[in-house]
Amino acid sequence: MRFSDEHVAFRGMVREVVEREITPHVDEWERAGIFPAHELFPKLAAVGLLGLEYDPAYGGEGADHLFTVIACEELGRSGAGGIPMAIGVQSSMATPSLAKFGSEELKQKYLVPAIAGTQVCSIAVTEAGAGSDVSSIRTRAVRDGDEWVVNGSKLYITNGTQADWMCVLVRTSDEGGYRGMSQLVIETSSPGFAVSRKLDKLGQRSSDTAELVFEDVRVPVSNTIGKEGRGFQQQMSQFVIERMFAAYGSPASCRRALERTRDYLKQREAFGRPLMQNQYVAFRLAELSAQVDLVQAHNYACAEAYMAGDDTTRYATVAKLMTGRLVRQVADTCLQFHGGMGYMEETWTSRFFRDSRLLSIGGGADEVMLQVLAQLDGFA
Ligand SMILES: Cc1cc2nc3c(=O)[nH]c(=O)nc-3n(C[C@H](O)[C@H](O)[C@H](O)COP(=O)(O)OP(=O)(O)OC[C@H]3O[C@@H](n4cnc5c(N)ncnc54)[C@H](O)[C@@H]3O)c2cc1C
Repeated sequence: MRFSDEHVAFRGMVREVVEREITPHVDEWERAGIFPAHELFPKLAAVGLLGLEYDPAYGGEGADHLFTVIACEELGRSGAGGIPMAIGVQSSMATPSLAKFGSEELKQKYLVPAIAGTQVCSIAVTEAGAGSDVSSIRTRAVRDGDEWVVNGSKLYITNGTQADWMCVLVRTSDEGGYRGMSQLVIETSSPGFAVSRKLDKLGQRSSDTAELVFEDVRVPVSNTIGKEGRGFQQQMSQFVIERMFAAYGSPASCRRALERTRDYLKQREAFGRPLMQNQYVAFRLAELSAQVDLVQAHNYACAEAYMAGDDTTRYATVAKLMTGRLVRQVADTCLQFHGGMGYMEETWTSRFFRDSRLLSIGGGADEVMLQVLAQLDGFA
């Protein structure tokens, strides 16, 4: 991948913003189990980070996709997975459908403040009985005149306790299966909406995750994103963008972890010499470094295909699967080579180990990626 001077300058700017606005606060936000999205997002929006590829007519930058790749890579170096994930929800998981299929009125009302960082948003698909199998969702919207009346619940929703609005996947007809779903913009100030629980998690602790309940929530029919009944298909295309965002940051966080581990092992001695002088240790790190190169090259191929207007479903599926697996291996190895120190909360390895576990589950588990891949490649 050849980045232009503009891309290189942008990388420097994002690194500086991450080091100034995120990294120094990460420990505090991790302890608190939440970060102040309404404070942080406007700062990120001021440098374009929440709307890189969106139309300038809505406050976006109209930038090419490589700027997103660079932003993900730099966010991947921030020191905690929770913040990049929350930012990704705002910029690349809750808003792509709205930008692509939403009416002008909806875009003005919800996309513009999301890009400006003045409103926080969530994507609400998962339910207690429907995670991997999205077609099993039961949250229901029944039409009453010009309004939908929504009843149901959603689980594991990122930014869920602080969001101003959510892109919610609901059933709008009795057709069942993949049919009859729609995406609705639901404001969290609507009567009948409640956060039933803020969830405690293994990792990604600075990101808030919520269980939500909808009881006779009235939503204007005009808040339907795109076509009524096409919600599943629109969400599947939104998932492709989500998986690309999730995968792009991983090689950078892996590389940083390998560098930090290398530096530690050069000075930590056992049996009279630095641990790094053990060939097994050096080869294991070198092997992981080689694998990072491969997934990063795949990510770049995915980005190029996306910029060429190709369908990137297969690229995104492979990227999400392989980065999810690799980051777990890297986190496990880095912790192992730090010994007891690596297991301590005060050492970065323990947070990295916890945070890295999510990529193989959230946004579609590894097995779901394999299911998609098996279908695409004719193995299923
Ligand atoms: C921290 C966090 C943040 C999240 N944020 C959001 C969010 O913002 N919005 C949202 O809508 N959702 C969110 N999720 C939900 C996430 O996308 C789901 O957890 C995920 O899709 C898996 O669904 P599930 O948890 O119901 O697992 P299940 O569907 O119960 O699956 C359990 C396990 O079974 C295996 N499995 C599943 N399908 C198959 C198969 N076909 N073949 C073989 N094995 C299989 C996998 O190992 C899987 O992990 C979040 C989850 C977490 C943990």
